[in-house]
Amino acid sequence: MPVNGLGAYDDSNVFAKILRGAIPCRKVFENEWVLAFHDINPQAPVHVLVIPKGKYVSLADFTAAASEAEIAGFFRAVGALANELGLEAAGYRVLANMGPDAGQEVPHFHVHLFAGHNLGPMLT
Ligand code: 5GP
Repeated sequence: MPVNGLGAYDDSNVFAKILRGAIPCRKVFENEWVLAFHDINPQAPVHVLVIPKGKYVSLADFTAAASEAEIAGFFRAVGALANELGLEAAGYRVLANMGPDAGQEVPHFHVHLFAGHNLGPMLT
């Protein structure tokens, strides 16, 4: 039940392929709810992607269709990961792109975790 401009979930997207092991990733963390891995084209010294294991295109899709346990599991994992990577003291940024205007490249809901230097102001 996708509710953004990207259409129905497409199993051929690159994160779906990573989830089913069809292409490799540099894994950082995994549990029953999420997989976290290094971005292939890092925009900061730490650039980790966290994705739910379920098939969701957007945040609206995820929060409408996922179970309470899955939503909690996802956001708990993002916070725990930031803590375990030692990012709490210096700080970090969590960002999620949704749909065409945000330039969402991969139509599987995900958040970016950026850290490792001063990230500067948000651009928009
Ligand atoms: P979006 O624009 O959808 O928010 O971000 C997608 C991110 O996925 C980009 O930062 C891009 O570098 C990353 N990405 C695209 N393909 C791959 C891949 O095959 N492996 C990994 N690890 N990251 C990818």
